[in-house]
Amino acid sequence: MLILMVMDQRSIEFETGKGMEGILPDIRCKYIQETFMVPYAKAGNYDACIVGGVKSVIMFITDPENAPEVMAENSSAFSQSNSPFAQPVSITVMGIIGAALLAFTLLFRPRKKNSTQPEYVVRNRNDAHWITKTLLINIAIPAAWIWSQFTYDPPVTVVELLIAIYVFIIILLLERRLRLNHYIDSFFGTDRHAKHVAYSRSHQFWKVTYFIFPFPFLLYKLFKDQKLSALRNAPYACDRCNNMMQKLDENSDDQYLSTSQLVEEQLHSVDYDVWHCYHCSNQFQFSYINYASKYTNCKHCKANTSYISGRNTITSPSYTSSGTGEKITDCMHCHKQDRETYTIPMLQRSSSSGGSSGSSGSSGGSSWGGGSSGGGGAGSKW
Ligand SMILES: [Zn+2]
Ligand SMILES: [Zn+2]
Repeated sequence: MLILMVMDQRSIEFETGKGMEGILPDIRCKYIQETFMVPYAKAGNYDACIVGGVKSVIMFITDPENAPEVMAENSSAFSQSNSPFAQPVSITVMGIIGAALLAFTLLFRPRKKNSTQPEYVVRNRNDAHWITKTLLINIAIPAAWIWSQFTYDPPVTVVELLIAIYVFIIILLLERRLRLNHYIDSFFGTDRHAKHVAYSRSHQFWKVTYFIFPFPFLLYKLFKDQKLSALRNAPYACDRCNNMMQKLDENSDDQYLSTSQLVEEQLHSVDYDVWHCYHCSNQFQFSYINYASKYTNCKHCKANTSYISGRNTITSPSYTSSGTGEKITDCMHCHKQDRETYTIPMLQRSSSSGGSSGSSGSSGGSSWGGGSSGGGGAGSKW
């Protein structure tokens, strides 16, 4: 059995003697090279490469009983090692993940003049926090990881990396969510209604996380729902007589609501809570807007009962000019109809040869193919 490693040709050769061919046929030699040697050679760790090769050859020679099992198609050891997910992470994959991380961070960086950010976020925004986090995510963690890739044995595989990224994203999201909650809590203080509005508004797009990351976000949802319910339903002390007030149920509060409010409740665009003090007849009410509703504020009656009932194209857009469209809104309360024209952008010819797709550095992993050499053994390149 000869194991030959030619550094400047970046190749490994196994030459097996006659007696060895049964235990170590070409395919098994190739398997040993690709699984236990080439990944290390690619990482520049030639010692681990040779040790890995010798160790696995010894394993096969000293335990021939085990060999058929290891090589069987349904053996997990064999099939896993052949899957791309079980391979050590290549430089190309590292590059792609690094670029994605950087793009993600830049895309979601805090913007100075962004009026869509709620006041409680703007007030609490902290550039130092963002810079620290950005440096940590984009430089410190990748550097630590690349370092570990070259020092630890065996190197991290693709599947391990994917799991790590999944967990990492969960941690980032949790950190963000808890930080937002903290902002809301400290900004609104004891104003339970304002806090409830801010909470339910800021959770609108977080529903996605319940599906993508059921753990831990379904647990978080339980906590959030409980918190919202407490903010809305915990009894208030009357500001006149200090006795506890009661929230009227959905039917008995109707007598205190206006017709527009009743329509809003029917459409589920706004829900009203009426609180009543049975001691001094003090009363107040809170509105809870349903942000998922299709009904928006009507400019005539000011109720949340207006909806888009239709869209018409007046002039179609072409490749040389923009078009105009018409949006029709109806109100379910005052029944006034509005027509509003808007511009439809000019048609764009799909531009082929976009230019920016070049310069892909994908040559890293593809160059090692290798073939079997002559009457026994195999070769691999890295
Ligand atoms: Zn009272
Ligand atoms: Zn109206």
